[in-house]
Amino acid sequence: MWPSTSRAARWLSGWVELLFPPRCLVCGKEIEGLTPLCSGCAAEIRRWEAVCQVCGVGIEPGLDLCPDCAVEARAFAWARSIGPYEGVLRALVFLVKYEGERSVARFLAREMAELAEEAQVVTWVPPDPVRLRERGFHGAEILGQEVAKALRLPGRPLLRKIAPSPPQVGRSREERVRAMHGLFSATKRGHGEKVLVVDDVFTTGATASEAARALLDVGFGEVGVLTCAHTVGKE
Ligand SMILES: [Zn+2]
Ligand SMILES: [Zn+2]
Repeated sequence: MWPSTSRAARWLSGWVELLFPPRCLVCGKEIEGLTPLCSGCAAEIRRWEAVCQVCGVGIEPGLDLCPDCAVEARAFAWARSIGPYEGVLRALVFLVKYEGERSVARFLAREMAELAEEAQVVTWVPPDPVRLRERGFHGAEILGQEVAKALRLPGRPLLRKIAPSPPQVGRSREERVRAMHGLFSATKRGHGEKVLVVDDVFTTGATASEAARALLDVGFGEVGVLTCAHTVGKE
């Protein structure tokens, strides 16, 4: 690029910022700097004091596992999320999932990357082909690419969906988990690489377990899961 062009671009973006100052994507307040939300909204994101060593949900300090992980085998080695799926965090996830807002994805991905254990490659829960065609983007992929960038790891589409997601509403937890079996297949064989699977929200963990199973089946190593948020209560 010619130096004069980039100078012109900087001059122009300076003017754009003056005329349209960046606003917090959650509350609309004017902000400075590169974050997509104001400090007030950022501070409202709730974190857990202690989390389940397996699925990452908030638990009472002093315990190791949540009641679900105490009785249920998970195919992934660990899962972590920024916090509970509520309030500001929920609004941010919405912006990524339904609007494909990349600045928000970048913000969330940086927070998620802080929680990651060692891995060699980053991937994401694959889209439903029909939904991808309708929306034109896939929130989990945007998040996955941003997490990969934040961790300086390759981001690769290692999974594909081979069956449409079953309806989740009105089903028991057991039914939901069973209905997820065989939903994904891997796009290539692994050689023991540790993989990070990124998704927007962790609900029952059935999706994460199926994604992990598909990767382990073809030779990938330990699978960890990073999501923006973890649902709490009945969802
Ligand atoms: Zn705000
Ligand atoms: Zn757990």
